[in-house]
Amino acid sequence: MIAVVVAVLLGAFLGSFLNVCIHRMPRNESVVHPPSRCYACGTRVAWYDNLPVVSYLVLRGRCRWCGSPFSPRYLVLELVSAALTGAVVWATVAGGAPHLAASPWWGGAPVAQALTAACLLVLAWYLLVASVIDLEHEMIPDELSKPMQALSPFLAAAAGTVLDLGWHPLRWAFGDAWSGPGDFLSPFLWISSFAVLALVASGSLLVKVLKSFPGEGEGQVSPEESRGLLVGIWWFAAVSAVQIAITAGLLLSGVGALVEFGLLLGSAVLGSLAGWWTLYLVGLVGTVVARQYAMGFGDVKLLAPMGAFLGPVGVVYTVFVSSVIGTVVGLPSLWRKWVLRREHVNTRLPYGPFLAVAALVVLGLGVHLHRGIWDGMAWFQGLYLPR
Ligand SMILES: [Zn+2]
Repeated sequence: MIAVVVAVLLGAFLGSFLNVCIHRMPRNESVVHPPSRCYACGTRVAWYDNLPVVSYLVLRGRCRWCGSPFSPRYLVLELVSAALTGAVVWATVAGGAPHLAASPWWGGAPVAQALTAACLLVLAWYLLVASVIDLEHEMIPDELSKPMQALSPFLAAAAGTVLDLGWHPLRWAFGDAWSGPGDFLSPFLWISSFAVLALVASGSLLVKVLKSFPGEGEGQVSPEESRGLLVGIWWFAAVSAVQIAITAGLLLSGVGALVEFGLLLGSAVLGSLAGWWTLYLVGLVGTVVARQYAMGFGDVKLLAPMGAFLGPVGVVYTVFVSSVIGTVVGLPSLWRKWVLRREHVNTRLPYGPFLAVAALVVLGLGVHLHRGIWDGMAWFQGLYLPR
């Protein structure tokens, strides 16, 4: 319990720093220098006015010197960060979610639990910062997403939290020909290499198609945008190729522990590729059908790192859960627009935050969700099918 209390405090303090990241990163400013200032009068914020949550409440959300209001977002984010950090430590260290409890590495309980907690916290904080920036700017800075794309499969494998939701993609693809972990390498190489090659080919094709669209203005892709798109796709393809090569090396090493790590890393890499492809295909089809740019690349940047932790099946559950949450949240505004005929109501919703929430839900409850769905289907079959 002490660990959870410490985590909540740590999360609140970190929330203040994440606030700085969220404000400065999209503006290409350093997150460490200069120290925080009031945006209205420029006075430096003293440390005693910079305490998370407490300072905001004491000063009633206003600058001590000029009285101009600070956005309530600062308070909300500090609270969310505290709650999230506490929840992850509760699930891992305090045993709240047994399937996330401890990394299979470093045998001893406290170290292994701390390792799992640390890796999951990196994911949770990334999702928090990236989805809030996405909410505000409709983009996710590369300096945030690129390192995360490179690191997430290693973090997931180190944490030992690549969800295994009953369906093994390799067993399904290769049936009886796949004889278990010893024969993991060849199907893994086939699937993953194909995914990366298809990614590069379809990315180049997408940019060609986009450039060929006639007309000006919205929906038209500028040269910088199409260049950025290509760089993003090639970066992901390159880091995936390196991850695949490292996995292959580990599996070939023949050293017990390295092979074990390689197996987990392989599942994480496949999850990350599945995360990328799921939204990428949706955007690709949307772009070609609507004949205008419909990629939502921020969502791809969110789902690829999540996919490493969620595994390929977890990705599918996450997309499903996020659309359920999105529908529920969006229903009131849809009602106002279509039933009450309020034309001006904005029904556009950013998808990123729903994805982030859904990923955390599936990480925590995916095992139960999976079991519930299969039990439900079995019950349904029992009702209607003759025995
Ligand atoms: Zn001020």
